[in-house]
Amino acid sequence: MNLSKSKYCEGITCLKKLWLSINKPDLKEDVNEKVFDTGTEVGELAKKLYGDHTDIEFNTDLSKMIDDTNKAIDAKGDTTITEASFNYNNNFCSVDILRRKNNIYEINEVKSSTHINDIYLDDISYQYYILSNLGYEINRCNIIILNSSYVRKGELELNKLFLINDVTKEVLAKQEEIKEKILYLNNNISDKEPDVKLGTYCQDPYTCPFFNYCTSDLVQPNIFSLSGMTFNKKCDYYHRGIISFEDLSKENLNTKYQEQIEYELEDLKDKINIPSIKKFLSTLKYPLYFLDFETYQEAIPSYDNISPYMQIPFQYSLHVKKSINSPLEHYEFLALPGIDPRHSLAESLVKDIPKDVCTIAYNMSFERTVLKKLAELYPDLREHLLNIRDNMKDLMIPFKNRDYYNKLMQGSYSIKYVLPALFPNDPKLDYHNLELIHKGDEAANAYSTLHLKSNEEQKIIRKCLLTYCELDTYAMVKIFEKLLDVI
Ligand code: SF4
Repeated sequence: MNLSKSKYCEGITCLKKLWLSINKPDLKEDVNEKVFDTGTEVGELAKKLYGDHTDIEFNTDLSKMIDDTNKAIDAKGDTTITEASFNYNNNFCSVDILRRKNNIYEINEVKSSTHINDIYLDDISYQYYILSNLGYEINRCNIIILNSSYVRKGELELNKLFLINDVTKEVLAKQEEIKEKILYLNNNISDKEPDVKLGTYCQDPYTCPFFNYCTSDLVQPNIFSLSGMTFNKKCDYYHRGIISFEDLSKENLNTKYQEQIEYELEDLKDKINIPSIKKFLSTLKYPLYFLDFETYQEAIPSYDNISPYMQIPFQYSLHVKKSINSPLEHYEFLALPGIDPRHSLAESLVKDIPKDVCTIAYNMSFERTVLKKLAELYPDLREHLLNIRDNMKDLMIPFKNRDYYNKLMQGSYSIKYVLPALFPNDPKLDYHNLELIHKGDEAANAYSTLHLKSNEEQKIIRKCLLTYCELDTYAMVKIFEKLLDVI
């Protein structure tokens, strides 16, 4: 069969993406298994929305799924079939939840997102096209998504967790377009890799997993290495043939882009604005508490007072410098697996950070939001948690303001760029040298699945989580000391 739902959606985004998915799938990068697992988990739960149903088991032999669907459809009366599979002119689709009442059908497409993306409409419109051409009468098409306002209280309430959106009108309006696109894709899937230029579709609706492959023959650094510019604008320059930093240096760009280009092309020395850095440092008063949270998210809330995709803090690291000459102290917290980690974390935090001290975070809006949410949840700790939040300072400021800049920062003020730029040859500050966990999403995935691991595995993973988070705050201490050094 030529097309499936996902292949159709890839193809209408970019013909080359479809071709690469079919012919060179190993080139895909950043394939996040966790996103895939979440989609499966949400899909399985949504199947329970309509009670009893016949599930068509997945089979690599698609004709087996189609046969099983036909058998389920042959049964008399009203019915609900999940993963019902169809083929029209070699175009295949599986419907997440197909319902039949009085011989009239309803198509339900389940997404693990909290909002409707345009591509979802293409996806369900493709399904309608196939089923209607096979002669099924369809009176309604729904896109089912997660309700971000839902807050779990006790048992999961599926009718509140999911939002069922009727998109029948939009689907009907798209049918002519779908017909043309299916024809176009079927006529253009050839043996030869299509010659497609980069465009906004490389990032919209998702970052294309072939992006590195498609940009691998561009001169380095290039327009796509420029930090902070919108992707649309980058595409404009790219289409005008302004691609290398040499080309870009002749353009009338805003100062921050010019600076990145100049520093990288001309190998300029570090830019250090001493008065501004001094002014920033004067706002920090000892004792200093360097704090970093790790959080995870879940599509389906496991515990009370959690909404889909809410940030749930499960760990922190805290380095403390009581005075300029005092030794560095370290405190940490990592919740037990398989429980709601928030209360024990909040209790530990208020023990470790006294009121009215200066707490430092890097990109503090995240830490402040976590603290505010914890304060809303636990009235007994509220005052103390808000006190920590209100006394927080952001170590990112001197880098965001470009008071300290060097070419290795590549236009970014993220700690993942700033740290190696300030300490390029320090193996102790290199996240690559850590075991198992090197970045936030790896930490989140490791914790959220920790309860499924053996005791032995848990021990190893917990050690790696602690080491990772400790490096986050140790890095902040080193950055702070670097600022002291330069002034
Ligand atoms: S990176 Fe862009 S051009 Fe390349 S396959 Fe993906 S969408 Fe197409």
